[in-house]
Amino acid sequence: MRVKHKKWAEPYLESHPELISLNPAEFKGNWQSRFEKAQPLHLEVGMGKGQFIIGMAKKYPQYNFIGLEIESTVAAIAAKKAEPEHLPNLTFVRADGAGLDTYFADGEIDQLYLNFSDPWPKTRHEKRRLTYKSFLANYQQVLVPKGSIEFKTDNMGLFQYSLTSLNNYGMIFDGVWLDLHHSDENEGNVETEYEQKFAAKGQPIYKLRAHFAK
Ligand code: SAH
Repeated sequence: MRVKHKKWAEPYLESHPELISLNPAEFKGNWQSRFEKAQPLHLEVGMGKGQFIIGMAKKYPQYNFIGLEIESTVAAIAAKKAEPEHLPNLTFVRADGAGLDTYFADGEIDQLYLNFSDPWPKTRHEKRRLTYKSFLANYQQVLVPKGSIEFKTDNMGLFQYSLTSLNNYGMIFDGVWLDLHHSDENEGNVETEYEQKFAAKGQPIYKLRAHFAK
């Protein structure tokens, strides 16, 4: 997500270590200590301004949630939005999703979300797509055995690529929706910022849920 650099962002991040970690490796294997209760841990990679992960944390108090974002300004906007809510089951990380195995122990995450990830349409940028095989290998490592991924996007090219990439990796599909908002799966759907924007323009939203074979 491209947003104008905000001067307050970096000082805000640095002064809220209880809300957002800038050096997540220090909590590797110990993420449950960041929450009021130990309970299943769900992670969103590339949370943007946080609407989805904040909405999920409010809706599902029985799970713990981590919103991870690489861009400081975007991460700071999300954390600032969540701060007054004092949600005991939500915390944030400003870091690169490419390094998940350095921040999380094997099997530490129960469920992973990717929402409206950058499409990187040029073939030479394939390795940057968050559903490229090296990312999948990383997700598999930090997820519990047979852990699952939910992915939503408006981008048909990235969706087609992801179906192929997950399939080639041997993942098992639990559901594929080509028009989420007009399907039964939409019941209880928590929308992201991008999702609201694209759906308002009448674009279909694609979704898949898949789990690793082991
Ligand atoms: N999930 C949000 C934002 C989608 S835009 C929504 O649906 O509204 C994609 C987001 O992923 C951007 O904010 C971008 O900065 C972030 N991102 C891209 N590559 C990333 C990476 N390697 N690690 C973490 N975040 C990343």
